[in-house]
Order: sequence, then structure tokens, then C-alpha cells
Amino acid sequence: DLRPWQAGLREQFPILTRHPGHSYLDSAATSQKPQAVLDAVNDYLTSGNANAGRGTYPWANRTTALIEQVRHRVREFLADPEPDRSGVHFVGGTTDGLRLIARDWLVHHLRDGDEIIVPFADHSANALPWQEAVDLLGRQGVRVTVRAMPYDPAHDYDHRALPELVTERTRFIATTHVHHVYGGDMNIGRIRAAVGPDVVICLDAAQSVGHLPVSVADLDVDFVAFSGHKAMALPGIGAVWAANRRGAAFVPAGWAGTPNTSGIVSLHAALDWLQAAGVADVARWTVALGARLTDGLSRLSAYEILGCQRSLAADSPVQQRHGIVTFRHRDIGSNDLGFILAAEGFMVRADGHCQAGGGEKTTSVRASLHVYNTVEEVDRLLEVLAGLDTGA
Ligand code: PMP
Repeated sequence: DLRPWQAGLREQFPILTRHPGHSYLDSAATSQKPQAVLDAVNDYLTSGNANAGRGTYPWANRTTALIEQVRHRVREFLADPEPDRSGVHFVGGTTDGLRLIARDWLVHHLRDGDEIIVPFADHSANALPWQEAVDLLGRQGVRVTVRAMPYDPAHDYDHRALPELVTERTRFIATTHVHHVYGGDMNIGRIRAAVGPDVVICLDAAQSVGHLPVSVADLDVDFVAFSGHKAMALPGIGAVWAANRRGAAFVPAGWAGTPNTSGIVSLHAALDWLQAAGVADVARWTVALGARLTDGLSRLSAYEILGCQRSLAADSPVQQRHGIVTFRHRDIGSNDLGFILAAEGFMVRADGHCQAGGGEKTTSVRASLHVYNTVEEVDRLLEVLAGLDTGA
């Protein structure tokens, strides 16, 4: 029974205890912060704030050392099997990280005639930078073919169609770990099997880091980008991990610039907090809550649930759905539904969810869960949604 464990974690989020009667169900957009993260930032700023790599005095030296420590912490958190080889680069978040990989690595590694595969129905942060890089190369006379990642009707990647897109000129494939609209685990192991051992895989881990164990060893990927703010840390900090295999080593162009030290401190505290909480149990909790919400919704005839667990291709293994449930009401527009839910104290997302080309054409409501959400919140949400279920 995870309930006592969960209750102990939930009470560590001051924003939640300060707002009883409100349900924060928008963690796919950003997570709330535990007291330990707030304390760590406060401690740093009140005990030894300085710029890094500049000084001859203790605060500066401590800050420089701390940044190195957090790099190591990120490697550890991602179960990096070769921490002495890999690179960790602090960035603003996933969007910034993926753009960094596109601009500072991809454009320098692609040659005329190369091919890449891009998931155009995923978050635009994981589609537009690759197209931008290819367009830039095109203006320099380097022609690169961009292939669109194939999808199956359940919004999983189409693992049968993908191998047919891979040629001996395929160099790079961008993938998403957990889909930010459908909540499905995109099964990166099958992507590696489809593309073979030599293609560089870049993982958008915005919705997985902090939600489930992310092991770069198990996933066999070459780049990982994630956002701190979705994993209990402050906004404005994220990381790119680069394997330094298959040519994925790179040194971002940075001749100057002050790192986001308080953000880095918050990331350190957040990863410590998550690890102490137990990321595998966090996943168990959010998967169970997501399943409860999905089950409840599927009994209400007015709602259509988007994404996996419906119309799965015959040989597609059922995707694990993480704590993201996206749906529409048959008669009530999604923005209106968002306002109705807000009036009842539920904070959900209602829009088109930043999908690039190939995404949903109409808006929907997304409820996304984290470890601080409760069974009672899900049941109350279902109760309110049931009240709007006008029947068939
Ligand atoms: N990729 C995915 C899958 C996301 O869910 C998000 C955030 N919604 C991003 C990328 C972009 O993250 P950020 O806004 O933190 O840069």
C-alpha cells in the first residue's frame, strides 16, 4: 500500500497545503516544488552565492565544485554506465536542450545525402529544431532528407513501419520517452531494435525524468534532454546528457556566460528528493492514478479518451500509460470544460498541447498527475465529470 508513503510526500509541498480544496492536475506542464528544493535554493543564496569558475575565494570555488557535483548527480540519476565519458550540459529546459543538440551537434555531423527521422506528432520542441538544422544545412548546399516518424492508430510509434524508413544513410532519430498528450511510454527499446546499433538516438525525456526510472544504459540512447521544472526543480534549468559514443560527444559553443547556479542547486535538491522518494514507486503511483482516471472516464459515454489503450494494432504491445490522461467532451468545448473544472478547483490544461504537424486538430483537456496527487482528487474529478455526462 503506497498511500502512507504518498501522504508523507504530499505534505512536503507547501503550495498544496496552502490551497486545500484545489487540485493541481497540470504536472505535465510544470511540477510543484517540495520544501527541500525551496530550502536548498534559499540556503545557497543566503550562505554562499557567487559566480562559478571565476574566483579565488571560497564562495566561488564552492559554486564551481557544486556545478561539477550536480553534473555527476545527473549522470547517476540517469544510470549512466560510463560517467567518465559522458557530458552533462546545463540548459534552460528541454526546448533549449534539444535546440542545443540541433545547432551545436547535428548541423556539424550531417553530411550531404544523410537522413534523419523526426517525430512530427510529438511536442514541437522535438520537431522544429531538427527541421531548422536541416534547413540551415540546405542553405549551405548540404542536402539532408528528413523522414517523419510513423505512428500507429493508438499514437504509439509504428514499430513495424519504422524499419522500412531506415537506410544506410540514416544517422539520427529523435524520439520522445513519454508522450505529453497521450501519456504512452514510446518504447525506446523497440526504436533501437528498429534502427540498429549505429544510429544516434536523441531522447526527449521531458515527461519521464522524475516520473519513472530513466536508465540510459537500458534505453541505449545517445542524447537525453529534460526540464528541471517538470521534475520538482525551478524553471529555467534543465540538462542535456550526451553519451560520447556513436559520435554523440559534443562541446556546446559557450565561450562565456554565467550558469544558472540557483537553478542547478534546485536540480540537485530535486534529484535527491526524487531518489529518496523512490522513482519506481512514483511511477507506480502515477500509473495507478492514471489508470483509475482512464477507467472512470471510459464509463462515461460523453467523453472520448485520446491516445493509447484504444484501437491498438494487433501486434502492438499495450503501452504503459503514465499519469497523463487527455480527453474531450462530446458536446462541451474543451476550453469551456477547462473553465468549468477550474471553477470546481481543478487545474487542468485545455488546448492543443504544443503538438507539431500531425498533432490533434482540435483541442482537448489534459489531466496530468504527479506523486503529490491523490486517489481522492481523481475520484472527485470523475464525480464532476460524471455530472456533465449527459448520457448517450
Ligand atoms: N517535450 C515534451 C514531451 C514536453 O512535454 C515539453 C513541455 N511541455 C517539452 C518538450 C518542452 O519543455 P520545456 O517547456 O520545459 O522546454
